[in-house]
Amino acid sequence: MNAMTETPLVAADALLLEQVTAGTAAPRRRAIAKTITLLESTRADHRLRADALLNALLPHSGRSLRLGISGVPGVGKSTFIEALGLHLIAQGHRVAVLAIDPSSSVSGGSILGDKTRMEQLSVQEAAYIRPSPSSGNLGGVAERTREAMLVCEAAGYDVVIVETVGVGQSETAVHGMTDMFCLLQLPNAGDELQAIKKGVMELADLVVINKADLDEHAAIRARAQITSSLRIYGQHGHADHLDETRWQPTVLQMSALKSTGITEFWQTVQRYRDLQTASGRLAARRHAQDEAWMWERIESGLRERFRQHPAVRQALTDTTDAVRQGRAAASVAARRLLDLFKLT
Ligand code: GDP
Repeated sequence: MNAMTETPLVAADALLLEQVTAGTAAPRRRAIAKTITLLESTRADHRLRADALLNALLPHSGRSLRLGISGVPGVGKSTFIEALGLHLIAQGHRVAVLAIDPSSSVSGGSILGDKTRMEQLSVQEAAYIRPSPSSGNLGGVAERTREAMLVCEAAGYDVVIVETVGVGQSETAVHGMTDMFCLLQLPNAGDELQAIKKGVMELADLVVINKADLDEHAAIRARAQITSSLRIYGQHGHADHLDETRWQPTVLQMSALKSTGITEFWQTVQRYRDLQTASGRLAARRHAQDEAWMWERIESGLRERFRQHPAVRQALTDTTDAVRQGRAAASVAARRLLDLFKLT
């Protein structure tokens, strides 16, 4: 491990580190952008520098509250994040907003690409907004967002919000890099619980019924319904739902548009953080996330190397055909290919 942490920085990157961690506003902002660009580069020489820089940034990171926000398009995520961000900045916090958009690699667009979505927040000196990385598979996009999060933390942003849309695996990725995962819902979603995927619901530490101003009764109904289904999920998952040191997923209602419910939201987040910190679960969650992330990257890297391996590449088409045509058992074919995959 020492060898990893002691990789020397080239002079330009030492300066970047200095500016990110201790610079004044404008140079720091430029240094953050440059650092993130370096971390995102796929050039081999950049990757070496990026790894050294990342390790040097690590001791400065980790001192933020990492908040995941998910919900279907149109539920009000950017309206909410803007209202919350402004509320937090008024209290003296510094807020970074990052995004993981699973569609961006296909469309080239991104959920935060259009900065006018958070017009007031984006002009704040104490806010840093970065759109979703737009290339690569979800694992790669998530990796770059994770690394950007560390840079923002090293730059002193004490609340990091990671936004994603409520479709696909990106919610699991965001849950896997944040301290608290919040799901935004529409008031009428409570009537049709099938609209709320059980798997995602189980990830949620906090569910927020947004647009409560549109139909308060529907919002109250949705809140009751979701509260009871969360209890049921909780009881299936853990026998310790009566354990007072364990957080019980909570449901709130709010209007992001009218900025009502934001204070209660933040109080709830703080209660969560205090409870999880005191019980040691916050640190445990981060440690587990780091370990899971290392394995995710190892598996992804191995798959890539496997596909690139000359002997595997040579045999892959024929072997795949044999499996598809029923001439070879899938498990036997897999074993043979794995035997060809000798690390050099
Ligand atoms: P996102 O796609 O989840 O980021 O959703 P947006 O924040 O872009 O909001 C989608 C639309 O819903 C916009 O027209 C917002 O003005 C509106 N909206 C967001 N929050 C609320 C709310 O609390 N009440 C009402 N009535 N409209 C809202």
